[in-house]
Amino acid sequence: MNDFAIEELRPNLYRVPVPMPDNPLQALNSYFILSNDKTVIIDVGFNHPECEKALDNALHQLGRSWESVEIVLTHSHPDHTGNLDRIWRRWMRICAHMHSFQEVKYLMDMQSTVFNPLLRHLVDPQTDDERTIQRRDATRYQVSAELLPLKNDPDLFYLDDGDIYRAGDYRFEVITTPGHDDWHICLYEPQKKILIAGDHVLERITPSVLSWMTPYDALKEYLTSLDKVRDLDVDLILPGHGSPFTGVAARVDYMKQHHFERLEELYQLVAEGHTSLIDIARSAQWKHPDWDGWTLDQKFYSLGETFAHLIYLVNEGRITMTITQNKRRFYVADQWEVRRK
Ligand SMILES: [Zn+2]
Ligand SMILES: [Zn+2]
Repeated sequence: MNDFAIEELRPNLYRVPVPMPDNPLQALNSYFILSNDKTVIIDVGFNHPECEKALDNALHQLGRSWESVEIVLTHSHPDHTGNLDRIWRRWMRICAHMHSFQEVKYLMDMQSTVFNPLLRHLVDPQTDDERTIQRRDATRYQVSAELLPLKNDPDLFYLDDGDIYRAGDYRFEVITTPGHDDWHICLYEPQKKILIAGDHVLERITPSVLSWMTPYDALKEYLTSLDKVRDLDVDLILPGHGSPFTGVAARVDYMKQHHFERLEELYQLVAEGHTSLIDIARSAQWKHPDWDGWTLDQKFYSLGETFAHLIYLVNEGRITMTITQNKRRFYVADQWEVRRK
């Protein structure tokens, strides 16, 4: 079967693969739910003509028009929301967690305080001076207008934990699942036993869990959110990427184990004397070896992942973080106690 073919998974519930050009994930799953007068589309793809075309074709194939469309977003990442500006029509209602669009502003605020200093170290880890990073590299991580899909000021309909969202014959419970994104939501249909999981639970990939700011323990949030869905009565998980699958508890347990092993590995690296974020990330085991040969993007995300795990260890009291002149250093907690005496 064509990888991008539309598939009816349950009555009036379709999986519509939306291509993600030049992205290793290859495709986003949009889910379409049809009723007499409404077409609900859950997640919409990147701000890219191919993504717009995929949704347009799917509507055409299903005999629907844009007039009938209502959008639901699982979270604010650009592969799920970026297409909004292309497909938005004046009458269109958009449903999302109320904070998910404020998240974008939060990311923009972090540009100068967090992202740029990290990039400066990545471009030249040996230097701590205020040398300006190359313009090319600086602009690559500008949180761009692509992440601000709501230029048109549409009607927003806010969803929160415990809300009921009806789409045709489906009656979804909204479950907030922060971690992969602060304001991520899943949609659970207890009668039909399906879970629309966004990027919270994927079958083959471990969703990224990134932290950049000290107080936010994204990994702790994520692990707690995994427990929120682990024991749901679910026959079919509909993920944001990859094929629908079964076995939510087993997949949750696997991912939790993955993070616990990562925590131990990073703790050991700190115990061995690796103290800077870059040094720890570079020394960790990754699927692709040769960290130094990675692209700037890959390094950047590996730092966010590493920092999320380190913050978890800091909050557990196992390691200590110091910040001196904007540089973060990590030490095993008791070693730090010894140093202070
Ligand atoms: Zn995501
Ligand atoms: Zn995604």
